[in-house]
Amino acid sequence: MIQEVEKSPKVALCRACHGTGKVKKVVEYPSRIFGKKRSETVEEVCRQCEGSGRVMVSAK
Ligand SMILES: [Zn+2]
Repeated sequence: MIQEVEKSPKVALCRACHGTGKVKKVVEYPSRIFGKKRSETVEEVCRQCEGSGRVMVSAK
């Protein structure tokens, strides 16, 4: 018996931000004065899910 199942798009957690809607990005500032690299962690809205933390996945 062959059964055809029509799969509807699923809502899944965004892999890019792990469902948080935000991605952390480390920005480094080269500094000649201190001789060290300064790094700062900034949060950006995830581009994959546009901040919702969920993405639609169409399974085939
Ligand atoms: Zn995301």
